[in-house]
Formats: sequence, structure tokens, C-alpha cells
Amino acid sequence: MDFSRVELSEEDQAFLEESRAFLREIVTDDVIRRDRETGDNFDEGVHLALGKAGYLAREWKPESEGGFNRVRRRIWELEKRRAHVPWVTFGTTAMIARSVDKFGSPELKAEVMPRVYTGEVRLCLGYTEPEGGSDVATCKTRAVRDGDGWVINGSKMFTTGAHNCQYVFLITNTDPDAPKHKSLTMFLVPLDSPGIEIQGIRTVDGDRTNIVYYSDVRVDDKYRLGEVNDGWTVVREPLNVEHGAVEAAADGLQDVSIMMHQANTMAAAVDKAAAKVTEPDPNGRRLIDDGSVAYRLGRGVARMEASFSATSIFGRVALAQAMRDISPDLMDLLGTAASLPLGTDGAADDGAAEYVYRFAPLVGIYGGTLEVFRNMIAQYVLGLGKPAYAPPAKKAS
Ligand SMILES: Cc1cc2nc3c(=O)[nH]c(=O)nc-3n(C[C@H](O)[C@H](O)[C@H](O)COP(=O)(O)OP(=O)(O)OC[C@H]3O[C@@H](n4cnc5c(N)ncnc54)[C@H](O)[C@@H]3O)c2cc1C
Repeated sequence: MDFSRVELSEEDQAFLEESRAFLREIVTDDVIRRDRETGDNFDEGVHLALGKAGYLAREWKPESEGGFNRVRRRIWELEKRRAHVPWVTFGTTAMIARSVDKFGSPELKAEVMPRVYTGEVRLCLGYTEPEGGSDVATCKTRAVRDGDGWVINGSKMFTTGAHNCQYVFLITNTDPDAPKHKSLTMFLVPLDSPGIEIQGIRTVDGDRTNIVYYSDVRVDDKYRLGEVNDGWTVVREPLNVEHGAVEAAADGLQDVSIMMHQANTMAAAVDKAAAKVTEPDPNGRRLIDDGSVAYRLGRGVARMEASFSATSIFGRVALAQAMRDISPDLMDLLGTAASLPLGTDGAADDGAAEYVYRFAPLVGIYGGTLEVFRNMIAQYVLGLGKPAYAPPAKKAS
């Protein structure tokens, strides 16, 4: 990993200034306020403006096809974070568009890809089901052949962004009698198809996600991705990306693990707490002068720094766990006024630690739970073998 400082060329410096100014113009206070209210993590006006200015295409395409070079890609990622661009829906769109590009028919690609670049088409993930999501291959949503098309029945839990998207990347079961990894077929289902009902769900941190019901939904075969009963081949790659089981590039121009974006809320809360505990009260006393405050803050900072340095799948676990561990400590240090949320008069730190406290559980669930990742580390990295969940065999008496 290269940790040296990057000297920006004049062109890259100009790109930084131009993109920073553009983002400042389109991500207004109104956008941020609305996003907080809806919990959507998506803003159509911002998304279409990014598409129109060519940023979505340049973000998605490789450099050889007109996309950003490595340095600009990094600048762009960091500037989007600084500007608090609502980002979740382009994240899912970009990931799924890779599968459409790889496995879609020419007709489907022509329908979808140009409008991904303009921002008119957004794509969401339809993996998890109400009865369980950790093992996506146990899918019960059925797709049955019907003439030239398919009929889909079932339901999907936590289809984030479905109400702002045009298609869902849907895992279906097309052969219930086959072994689970040979029973799946992937589709890109148009979300305006008759028989689809989207119901909103709010999570504890205020995000919006959805449960989506599919009742006799008819889909043309052109919306199938990959071969029938070979959906595992299609879905494996995006699953690996979402799991963070992909090594960061060694040039240092990439986050060392996924969830860094989310974990920045923890860094901001720690900064606010550090500022607050060093403020003198009217008697000149500072919270930090109490050794236990200094100890707990120091411990939190050390845990946070360690988690930011952990890579790949380890980083993913460390970041979410650090968020869970540190946020209640920060609230304790700052006192009861730390339980007041953002924008409330009298809140100790404008709700920063309180927000991380509500957000942290989700960061350790979506895209796979911490328990599942710890098992993956045990099994694949440490070689401890597959966990045995079956009850121990009874001894013959
Ligand atoms: C905010 C949010 C957004 C999401 N967005 C999407 C989305 O856009 N699309 C989508 O398809 N899904 C989405 N999800 C679903 C998410 O991926 C699942 O919640 C996650 O994979 C866990 O599945 P589950 O909730 O069904 O829990 P289950 O699989 O039912 O697990 C229940 C409990 O059992 C534990 N467990 C399960 N299996 C194992 C194992 N092998 N070893 C150890 N422990 C285990 C889990 O850790 C958990 O504590 C989202 C979830 C949230 C909270």
C-alpha cells in the first residue's frame, strides 16, 4: 500500500475545484434537510444534475472508456462525501449495472445503460426475504416459465431505494427441487410492472427502506440475466463487492475497506466530543480534566483509529463494531443532553453521538451481519472449518 502524498497536477487541481463548486451548487441545505426527513439517501434533482453534467458516466466507466483516472476518481469520491451527496441509490445502481453489462442481452443493455448514465434509470437490490437474508441462496420467491416470459410470486424485505428506482435486481427460485445454488435465476424486473407493491419501512436511524410484494408479476425473458438456474454465477460478484471481500488497490487511492463512508459519522462525533470536553465551564473546569473522561475518550479514539486502519472484510467488521462500542461512551461523557437529536436546542453535540448510536446497528447488518462476517473470517481466513449448527449426535447408551 502506497501511503505517500499525492501531488495534484494542474488539471487534477482544476478538476477538484470544478467538482467541489458543482457539488456545492447542487447539494443545497434544502437537499440535506429533505434527505434527512425522507431517509431516502437519494435526491432525484441532484442525481439528474450529476447525470446531465456527465459525472455518473465518468464515475461508472473505466478510464479507457472515458471514465475518471485513478486520482480523479479518488478526488470525486472524497468530494461527494464532503458535500454529503445522498449516495445510496447510485451505489446500488452502479453495482447492478455491472451485472447488466456483463450478463444482459443486447436489447436489455440498450434499454438500461444509457439511462443509467443520464440518471433516469436507477437500480435496487432484491435479495433479502422476510424469512431470512443472510443466506440469500435460500430464496423462496418463485419465477415460473410462462410462454415467452415468466411469472413471479413472492416478497422481498429491505429493498432499499425501490420507490426511487426503475428496476430491481431480483433473485428468484426457478427450481425448488434443485440444490440451492443451482435453483436460482436472476432478473432485472421493471418496478412499474403490474402486481408489484412497494411498502415503506423506517429504520431506527431514520433511513427508509421497503418491503416489496410480487403477485403474478409477468416479465419478458429479455429481463433475465444469465442462464436459467445459474443465477449464482450472476449474483456472486456483486455479493462479493457488497461484502467488502475485495482487496483495495495498492496505490492508496481507495478506501482500505467498505463502510468508511458510514464510519465518517463516528469520526465527526469523536471530533465534536473532543471539542466539547475541552471547553471550560463558567467555573473554568473542563470535562477532560477528569481522568475517567480522558481515559474513555482516549480509548474511543484508539479503537476508532484501529478500525480505520483495518482492511477488507476485517475493516468492515472493525468499523461497525467500533461505532457500536464508541457511541454510547461518547454519550456518557457528554451527559444527558447528548441524547437530544440533531437540530434540537440544547443538544450537547448537535446529536452527533446519538445518531451514530442509532446508525451503528444497521452498519453491522446491511450487506451481511457482523456475526456472519466473523464466521467468514473464522472459516476462510483462519481456516477454522465450517461452523456446525446441528445438535451434537446422541451417544448410544
Ligand atoms: C437498513 C437496511 C438496508 C438494507 N438494504 C437491503 C437491500 O437494499 N436489499 C436487500 O436485498 N437487502 C437489504 N438489507 C438486508 C440485509 O442484507 C439483511 O438484513 C442481512 O443480510 C441479514 O439478513 P436478515 O435480516 O434476514 O437476518 P437473518 O439472516 O434472519 O439473521 C438473523 C440473525 O441470525 C444471525 N445469523 C444468520 N446466519 C448466521 C450464520 N451463518 N452465522 C452466524 N449468525 C448468523 C444473524 O447475524 C442475525 O443476528 C438491508 C438491511 C437493512 C437493515
